[in-house]
Amino acid sequence: MKVELSKEKAEKILSTEGHVKGEVFRNHGNYIKYKEGEAGVEKVEKRMAELGAPIKLRETAPMQWKDIGPGALLILVINEVLGWEEEEIYEMGRQSVKTAFITKLFVNYFVSKERAFRQAPAYWKKYFDVGSVEPVELKEDYGIVRIKGFHVHPLICHLYAGYMHGMTEFIVKSAHIAVEETKCTHKGDDYHEYKIKLV
Ligand SMILES: [Zn+2]
Repeated sequence: MKVELSKEKAEKILSTEGHVKGEVFRNHGNYIKYKEGEAGVEKVEKRMAELGAPIKLRETAPMQWKDIGPGALLILVINEVLGWEEEEIYEMGRQSVKTAFITKLFVNYFVSKERAFRQAPAYWKKYFDVGSVEPVELKEDYGIVRIKGFHVHPLICHLYAGYMHGMTEFIVKSAHIAVEETKCTHKGDDYHEYKIKLV
């Protein structure tokens, strides 16, 4: 997928309602630096500024609520200026979870995957004040969750799939995890549904 961003398209994305914790910007900034160096971070920040959303990714206060619009635009800008496609965006989501401070605090409370699964809605609320995640079904070798109330761009579905992969790695300590999006609002469904498989 190659996103073509225009000022108008960016404005629409920037007007998305809701907030996200600043930590998300920091983690994505750190991951870009790790993969593409300082020059990569600068390219992304320059393009964000051109599109009306100036931000210093790695200087964002982690516990502060930030507008979600720039958070969504960031993923599309990364695609545009760094050429990262679905797989790389997924990987960024996965790795971001591993370095996430809030996640670490939260995950320590989990005693089992059953409990972690049930706690998914509370975890979502620590990072987002819009949309929700709903645990649907948990079996020995797979789990199904839905994300509702968030519809911006299909590339972001891959970021969320990566988040789920990273979270699952925390909880089940397995190297063999696969996350597949089985329903999607961008394909006409009412919500995004993901199947997390232990393979
Ligand atoms: Zn989706």
